[in-house]
Amino acid sequence: MLSEMKLSFEEMWEKIIACDSAYDGMFYTAVKTTKIYCRPSCRSRKPKKINVEFYRYMSEAEEAGFRACKRCQPDSELSPQMVLVKNVSSFLIEHFKERVKLQDIAHHIGVSPFYMERVYKKETGETPNEYLEKVRIDKAAFLLRHTSKTNLEICFEAGYHSPSNFYKVFRRLKGCTPSEYRKYKHEEKAR
Ligand SMILES: [Zn+2]
Repeated sequence: MLSEMKLSFEEMWEKIIACDSAYDGMFYTAVKTTKIYCRPSCRSRKPKKINVEFYRYMSEAEEAGFRACKRCQPDSELSPQMVLVKNVSSFLIEHFKERVKLQDIAHHIGVSPFYMERVYKKETGETPNEYLEKVRIDKAAFLLRHTSKTNLEICFEAGYHSPSNFYKVFRRLKGCTPSEYRKYKHEEKAR
């Protein structure tokens, strides 16, 4: 059985179109026609949407008969530091709706909060909290583009507990308000 995915098919599809390396290790793209699986950030030519399947774990893609892509090498060994980064990132993607505390993540992966934050920052250039904001704002942006939910509903669904904080972070990462973002994206689509 396939593991439960925290991201929808559409969300994962957008990540692979954007070659978003922040989601590497979170899921794998398998292409039915070539029987190859890739990291989200793979720069090979994009498959047709209809030929794509997503797997949470590499082992599931392999069991389903897919081979690792030679270009992005999803099966290459990760360093212990990168394993830590991926564990932290997975935890954040799975728990972004909750009030996530650094101590909880550190406890979950069995290291000290100080060590965890230092390694994470060194490997990715951002702190776990900055990554969490990115995941939440990605989720909000997706809901703004694809649903007619209100800003307030989206605020809570993206894991924010106060609208003012949501607006502030959204503006910092996207350069506009949620309403402006929705309007631009709809105008872009209409063009
Ligand atoms: Zn690839």
